[in-house]
Amino acid sequence: MAVTDHVDLPTFMEGVNKRNPHQPEFVQAVQEVAEDIYDFIQDKEEYHSQQILRRIAEPDRVISFRVCWEDDNGNIRVQRGYRIQNNNAIGPYKGGIRFHPSVNESVLKFLAFEQTFKNALTGLPMGGGKGGSNFNPKGKSVREIMRFCQSFMTELYRHIGADIDVPAGDIGVGGREIGFMFGQYKRITNEFTGVLTGKGLEYGGSMIRPEATGYGAVYFLENMLKHKGDGLQGKTAVISGSGNVATHAAEKINQLGGKVLTLSDSGGFIHDPKGIDQEKIDWVKTHKTHRRGRIQDYCDEFEGSSFHAGKTPWNVPCDVALPCATQNELLGEDAKALVANGCIGVSEGANMPTNLEGVHVFKHAKMLFAPGKAANAGGVAVSGLEMSQNSGRRAWKESELQQMLRDIMDGIHDSCLTYGDQGGGYIDYVKGANIAGFKKVADAML
Ligand code: GLU
Repeated sequence: MAVTDHVDLPTFMEGVNKRNPHQPEFVQAVQEVAEDIYDFIQDKEEYHSQQILRRIAEPDRVISFRVCWEDDNGNIRVQRGYRIQNNNAIGPYKGGIRFHPSVNESVLKFLAFEQTFKNALTGLPMGGGKGGSNFNPKGKSVREIMRFCQSFMTELYRHIGADIDVPAGDIGVGGREIGFMFGQYKRITNEFTGVLTGKGLEYGGSMIRPEATGYGAVYFLENMLKHKGDGLQGKTAVISGSGNVATHAAEKINQLGGKVLTLSDSGGFIHDPKGIDQEKIDWVKTHKTHRRGRIQDYCDEFEGSSFHAGKTPWNVPCDVALPCATQNELLGEDAKALVANGCIGVSEGANMPTNLEGVHVFKHAKMLFAPGKAANAGGVAVSGLEMSQNSGRRAWKESELQQMLRDIMDGIHDSCLTYGDQGGGYIDYVKGANIAGFKKVADAML
């Protein structure tokens, strides 16, 4: 008789743990999804007989390669590069590339797994993937970054393609790095295709791609509040991070009438009770994103602000919070502090910034809590629109793209309502996003 995976959740997770030793981030991401979908799939025999859960928790392909590059002193440096092609049931693999010393197989597997459901939620035909390297761009010259990007692509190019796997940016990889990699791909293959997204506007990039992740996370927060008859006008916001996602989220909070109190980086957070307005955000963008300076320098520039070394901002009282830095930056204790201080809504701009304990705290408190795979999907959604523009050899106007991004974020919110309504006015957005994303991918696999 055929074997089915009709097992209970602890037994299933025991298997995941055994098959993925020393990969805590990946196991955590699988557990969060499995907890939410278990009841939903209980009576769906086909999912069990076809081992869908077991298959979905296993990446299609884990590609790992050596990247050698030459630093400015003529030394040969060696790094590990990866591309995880997680699932292409609904479209070509799609997802960013991360350059950060914390990158390893576990981190990229969790990101590729999350990306699969996130991409499904956008409604666009994109599968899930993720790549990167433990290369640390901090302190490197532009020429060193260029040589690293070119070496990385010299190996990666054989695994990707406009209809196969389409990488983009992530932490440590912005427009400049995409440009270096795109140039190298073109040089090697003699092909001009939409093989990467997040490109410059001059050579096939899309309007609003840089803004899309941060703006989208705020649109999603606004949708959750609106559903409760509330809005962002007059709300105070605590934001972590100070890169592309955080600064654009801050920008949109201001535009919608809110007040941003904090930003952060790996050294600590700054608190500005007067509010981080557009002028201050522009300063942060130039200082942090373009000059790669430290966030603490903000306090020398803007009176009345304070720097809190080695701390995260979750103890600052606020109405809404947007973790926009990195995975597992908001822990159980932080979630409890947010709830105790009266925070009413959390929207994740980063991928899996809240750990499992934190997620449980928010669920228990029936908080308006948007998981990253729903809230930060605006970035990859506009990447999907960039792919469409590239294959159609055209460029949409900014106003058209703004509207499409809004519509996509509204659509994701609707999907969460469909599968996350727990009755009594409580929407479990994590459950809603997990079931909606899972169902689409699982049905395509069947
Ligand atoms: N790295 C982003 C994410 O986590 C964007 C990926 C993309 O545009 O392909 O969704």
